[in-house]
Amino acid sequence: MAIEVQRGEKMSAMNQLAAALAHEVRNPLTAVHGFIQLLLKDEIPEERRNEYLQIMLHECNQVQAVITEYLSWAKPQMEETCQFDIGQLIDQSIHITTPYAQSNNVEIRSTIEPSLSFTSNPCKIKQCLINMMKNGIEAMKIGGLLQVNARKMDDYLVIEIIDTGVGMTQAELNRLGMPFYSTKEKGTGLGTMISYRIIEGVNGKINVKSEKGKGTCFTIFLPADSSSTRLTS
Ligand code: ADP
Ligand code: MG
Repeated sequence: MAIEVQRGEKMSAMNQLAAALAHEVRNPLTAVHGFIQLLLKDEIPEERRNEYLQIMLHECNQVQAVITEYLSWAKPQMEETCQFDIGQLIDQSIHITTPYAQSNNVEIRSTIEPSLSFTSNPCKIKQCLINMMKNGIEAMKIGGLLQVNARKMDDYLVIEIIDTGVGMTQAELNRLGMPFYSTKEKGTGLGTMISYRIIEGVNGKINVKSEKGKGTCFTIFLPADSSSTRLTS
């Protein structure tokens, strides 16, 4: 019964997002369509032509990014669960984000307790961690420190992703997680919404603390495996 409810919720979330996605794709498509019509006229000066082509390229990239992010979320793999170590998954996520951090002058440090066992789909949790680490890095435009912590607290595994970046106002925090809310020129506004859905899907929760100009701390609470806290392999 509970599974049916969850599945129903996910379907309607997907339908809602699909409708929003169609809207989000239609706008750039209309822009590209308009510019193609302009370019078909002969009398366009060369520099104008290049300017139009640049805008069209940007719009196409935008659509591509939105669709890629949507599809990676909509992949029906949530049901493929296994027991894994959260610390190892965090290490893998750090490994993947390190080149991006380095090119943004961001140092990543981590403090992770050993043997943090969790049962779910590791790909989805990794997707969530990478989304949040990327946001942390992108919030530090002049570089900074991204601190990732993980520990067990009572019945929860607690993961913190802390940056020393631009931070958010209360109004910005209120909009966090809404589909297509982005303050970035090349943002999709899907990463946080997808991360929230993934954590909700494993009965976890996310707290956010932020201070404008100081930084942000995302805290993820995951219900720890009740059967064992240690991995056998
Ligand atoms: P995107 O990164 O594509 O903009 P997200 O859904 O990942 O989309 O994030 C939505 C918005 O939330 C960002 O554009 C940014 O304004 C804000 N945000 C998310 N994480 C952070 C953070 N760590 N620090 C400051 N702002 C953030
Ligand atoms: Mg993002």
